[in-house]
Amino acid sequence: MEIRKIPFYYYYRLLKWNRFSDRSPIGASLKITARCNLRCRHCPWDKNPATDISLDEWKSRIDGLYARGVVVTVIEGGEPTLYPGVSELIDYVKFKGMYSILITNATTSISGLSPHVFWVSLDGMEKNNDKIRGPGTFDKAVATIAQNMDKKIVTLTSLSRNNVSDIEPLCSILSPLVHGIMFNFTYPYAVIAEECLDARERREAAAKILSLKSRYPKILNSNSYLKSVGRKKIVTPWLLTTVMCDGTEIQGCMVRHIEKENCLNCDMGCCVELSNTYMMKRDSVKFWNRSFGLTRFI
Ligand code: SF4
Ligand code: SF4
Repeated sequence: MEIRKIPFYYYYRLLKWNRFSDRSPIGASLKITARCNLRCRHCPWDKNPATDISLDEWKSRIDGLYARGVVVTVIEGGEPTLYPGVSELIDYVKFKGMYSILITNATTSISGLSPHVFWVSLDGMEKNNDKIRGPGTFDKAVATIAQNMDKKIVTLTSLSRNNVSDIEPLCSILSPLVHGIMFNFTYPYAVIAEECLDARERREAAAKILSLKSRYPKILNSNSYLKSVGRKKIVTPWLLTTVMCDGTEIQGCMVRHIEKENCLNCDMGCCVELSNTYMMKRDSVKFWNRSFGLTRFI
């Protein structure tokens, strides 16, 4: 059996992180292409370089990440389905024994792709989503979800002042269609700071999501994360590393590739849920166990 699939593997990593100050990541974001067919309002991506590395170079990067102990791989962009070798790249990640998550805007076809799970970006009901992501994108994404119900699909909604009113309607329409529903909070990058929720508004939105969890059990965010939203918290961003489309690597905080990070203003779910898992918060552990590839170690 693959060693990193057995429950004690995570305890072994904890021992190395805590006792030996090892800072090797357990998750990796692969931003495989700068190309995107959309121009979403909140996206800082157009500041990134336009050169994508080749599939062979990606395979070599994946080998290196595996050797450093990466277990969960998030394949994203830009829009990753526009990268010509995306299918082979996903298969290679799986061949290495790593868990594969593909983040897509679902306005292109995903039918030939087989990651362990898709994260489909949907930023509200039709009116608000289309204001943020462009006309027609809501209908296209929902149609893609409906056509691929045999696949494991989780929606990811980034909350801002533009769409915070859509939390419950989204839960209602998505619950019959998807494996899971996740909410995140848009980071207040300088160019979009005014559209982002302040700490009090984020706390209110998180409390609303928390109150909906019993009615909509497909909401995946952990209670620990939701209760920490808008509050000071301890994070361990070194658990993640990001490889950009030109092959450069940024260890830790995913905000840092755009501007200097400010944790006090940030409620990025991935970073906080992973940090909570490191601190052995039971429901964050369940969040990663339940849907995203970390072995059941509690
Ligand atoms: S789909 Fe993603 S990468 Fe493309 S513009 Fe929107 S947020 Fe940015
Ligand atoms: S909390 Fe946000 S800003 Fe802070 S390290 Fe994590 S992703 Fe970066």
